[in-house]
Amino acid sequence: MPVLSEVIAALDALWPPERAEQWDAVGTVCGDPGSPVGRVLFAVDPVQEVVEEAVGLGADLIVAHHPLYLRGTTTVSAATFKGRAVHTLIKNDIALHIAHTNADRADPGVSDALAGALDLRVTGPLVPDPADPAGCRGLGRICELDPPLPLAEFAERAAKRLPSTAQGIRVAGDPQQVIRTVAVCGGSGDSLFAEVRAAGVDAYVTADLRHHPASEAREQSPLALVDAAHWATEWPWCEQAAAQLDEISDRNGWGLRTHVSRIVTDPWTAHAASARPNPSHPS
Ligand SMILES: [Zn+2]
Repeated sequence: MPVLSEVIAALDALWPPERAEQWDAVGTVCGDPGSPVGRVLFAVDPVQEVVEEAVGLGADLIVAHHPLYLRGTTTVSAATFKGRAVHTLIKNDIALHIAHTNADRADPGVSDALAGALDLRVTGPLVPDPADPAGCRGLGRICELDPPLPLAEFAERAAKRLPSTAQGIRVAGDPQQVIRTVAVCGGSGDSLFAEVRAAGVDAYVTADLRHHPASEAREQSPLALVDAAHWATEWPWCEQAAAQLDEISDRNGWGLRTHVSRIVTDPWTAHAASARPNPSHPS
């Protein structure tokens, strides 16, 4: 059985921490480098429910996408919800390791997993990493949809292939518009509209699209928008990452057991479809 430091070294080779954004907080939050690791749980959010799931599984390590602490803290008191998670982790000898923007930019990365879930063929990064001479790493991905589909059918595919959330899929655009090329970005993607427009794609799949960036994008071009829940766009990475660690485990004869959390940690829990008549068409 490998020890934590060996597993972390393998994870750091997949997602080198120095490739994370400056503002990010990736790496090991807690864990003893010499502790044996037999079972690993992958999740998007290191929230208490996921920590409890790891306890129930007898996991020795959680690999999460989102940081527990993005900024510094002066307390891990269990009176705080983050401190409670730290206490639960340490009491149960479970390590927590974060791969966030370093996993976004990797090849394969978070957006490759999203493209794969939607059966899209990746042709390259949306924002290439200038430090990668091969031109494979970077933020977001540009993809082809083969065969092309009307926007309504492509959105149906996203609703079927991505894990279920209260939000479901929001769509902007003509439902009959034929979609051949798609940009995808797992997580909040409305800072990349300039790059999406420059790529000249038919549709953009991402999460957390706000009114003004979305409205302006729609005014500027017929770009179709497909907005899924943030958690749902990043969850496919957990399966991809678990498969990557499985392969490393097989190569090294580690015998690791990997699990992917299926707890929906998207914060939205319900959705009510609008029921008020349109004011211009009084009933
Ligand atoms: Zn995210």
